[in-house]
Amino acid sequence: MRKLIAGNWKMNGSLAANQALVQALRADVGSPGCDVVVCPPAAYLAQVQQLLAGCPSIALGAQDVSEQAGGAYTGNVSAAMLADFGVRFAIVGHSERRQYQGESDLLVARKAQQALASGITPIVCVGETLAEREQGLTDFIVQRQLSAVLAVNGTHVAEMVVAYEPVWAIGTGQTATPEQAQQVHALLRGQLRAVNATAASQVRILYGGSMNAANAQALLAQPDIDGGLIGGAALKAPDFLTIVGAAA
Ligand code: PEP
Repeated sequence: MRKLIAGNWKMNGSLAANQALVQALRADVGSPGCDVVVCPPAAYLAQVQQLLAGCPSIALGAQDVSEQAGGAYTGNVSAAMLADFGVRFAIVGHSERRQYQGESDLLVARKAQQALASGITPIVCVGETLAEREQGLTDFIVQRQLSAVLAVNGTHVAEMVVAYEPVWAIGTGQTATPEQAQQVHALLRGQLRAVNATAASQVRILYGGSMNAANAQALLAQPDIDGGLIGGAALKAPDFLTIVGAAA
């Protein structure tokens, strides 16, 4: 399966910094042997769309999408609006949004539904906290989070991407070992298989959590790790491109 490397810029960047980053990515990305997507903050989607014009190697993604189709929802950005700007992927259920915006499993499922309705591939994030892992709840948590999305969007399994992001590994420099990640990825693959056996083998399950230029290759070598969702290392063009190279 062709791997996917997605850069989550989070709330970082500026007009000048984005320009420099995209120029550096464009200059060296070539024809990558994997799919590549960058997810800038919503305010910069139009800018980055323009910066990526004529560069089919890098797709545009969003970090979030509204669960509503449109109307009186101040501050929200609909999937149709994202599609207007050429957005092809949308992260939903990132742990930072679950934690700071109180997003529930059901809300994440509805966000995925809106993305799918506009032809945008949702990158559905699941992952356990350190406390949950230490209590032996990892499998329960990730399966609960994914099952909420599948309950609403089960007929669209083949059109989704899943990202396993252990919360304790995000932005901490503490990466899951390839074996720890593979174990959870295999579990998630099995859960997808139970819904749609054919589609499950095509769904890309990304690992996210301090993936970097040094550890990407070992993680991406695991049989059920089909790419990466990259935070910090996505802001440095050479590091991000090294990860892209490791996924090829
Ligand atoms: C993320 O934000 O999805 C992420 C994985 O961040 P980092 O790579 O910085 O841990």
